[in-house]
Amino acid sequence: MIPQSFIRDLLARIDIVDVVGRYVQLKKGGANFMGLCPFHGEKTPSFTVSPSKQFYHCFGCGAHGTAIGFLMEYGGLGYVGAIGELAQSIGVTVPQEAGSGGQPDRRAPALLELLAQAGKFYRRRLKETPHAIDYLKRRGLTGETAARFGIGYAPDQWRGLEAAVADYQIDEMVAAGLVIEADGEDGRRKRYDRFRDRIMFPIRNPRGQVIGFGGRVLDRGEPKYLNSPETPVFSKGRELYGLYEARDAIRAEDCVIVVEGYMDVVMLAQHGVANAVATLGTATTGDHVRKLLRLVDRVVFAFDGDAAGRKAAWRALSRRRSRRRATPGASTSCSCRPSTIRTASCANAAPTGFARRWPARCRSRSCCCAGSPSAWSSRPPRAAPGCSPRLGRCCSRWRRRRCGCS
Ligand SMILES: [Zn+2]
Repeated sequence: MIPQSFIRDLLARIDIVDVVGRYVQLKKGGANFMGLCPFHGEKTPSFTVSPSKQFYHCFGCGAHGTAIGFLMEYGGLGYVGAIGELAQSIGVTVPQEAGSGGQPDRRAPALLELLAQAGKFYRRRLKETPHAIDYLKRRGLTGETAARFGIGYAPDQWRGLEAAVADYQIDEMVAAGLVIEADGEDGRRKRYDRFRDRIMFPIRNPRGQVIGFGGRVLDRGEPKYLNSPETPVFSKGRELYGLYEARDAIRAEDCVIVVEGYMDVVMLAQHGVANAVATLGTATTGDHVRKLLRLVDRVVFAFDGDAAGRKAAWRALSRRRSRRRATPGASTSCSCRPSTIRTASCANAAPTGFARRWPARCRSRSCCCAGSPSAWSSRPPRAAPGCSPRLGRCCSRWRRRRCGCS
């Protein structure tokens, strides 16, 4: 529990104009600041931020709230996360009342700095490594996309990161998940890089800071994907790959597509479908679903048509449904009324199996095209190497079932 007095003081000390201004270009207009609303697509500004009242309001879509609300809505942060973020921005620590959950780790800023340095190092090394560039080119990736997602390469060296950081031996290198410490044959502790000879995908938090990495082998080797371990700044079950990069597109499309792999996200973005995110080699968790539903009402799960993919999609949908049961307040936006049902189920190759398992009252509307035109109906994914043919087929299956998007 965070003391209410602290939250009051915090809101008094920060300026919502600064907070919102970090994400939205604001212009002074009279007593207020105006900008293009980040919560709905618009060409003329109807989004206002009031420095005197310390809240934002959109005359177009009705979005409204304080600085905390803005970070929750726009950044997809939880309540505690948003308060932590604001506190950090003015350099204060969030106090905890007795009986509370975990406190933000004090080491976090140092870890983020090391991760940023590592990310920069990997990006630099990619440019210097022809066989890594060749590999990405063979997969159809352009240099622009690689730059947009900050993709890099971890060299095939045991201690490559020594060149990236000032001190390889500090504890924070282990805490950040960048190096592994183990007993050597002589009984002495030895350190080496966790990621070696891998394509590196940085995973970013809502502020765009690197909090972890996903590393993929180039051709052969195991494991195919290696993620950062759980650290004070990174938790697989909570983070989604590509969320930072996809945020604006998710808003614009009013829809988020959850896919299985980093490459799916990157390739979809390259082919114009920029509102996709991926789980990090884990099943979709309740935290993932909550995070996405804070951003947008419509979540499309697009998993592989194989058995594992179908299982994952089903699990994700179950989570989605249990969340609906667990939070009555949220149920209005995802109840089964035609105008509001937003959940889309996409299980390639087995839509019928899906429909059978989906509760009867939802079946007819649990389709990716329910409601207003979504990213799918207005812009079906074009063929992209390795990923979107699957998605395209999935969407057309739904179309064939006459789900209303024709
Ligand atoms: Zn708006």
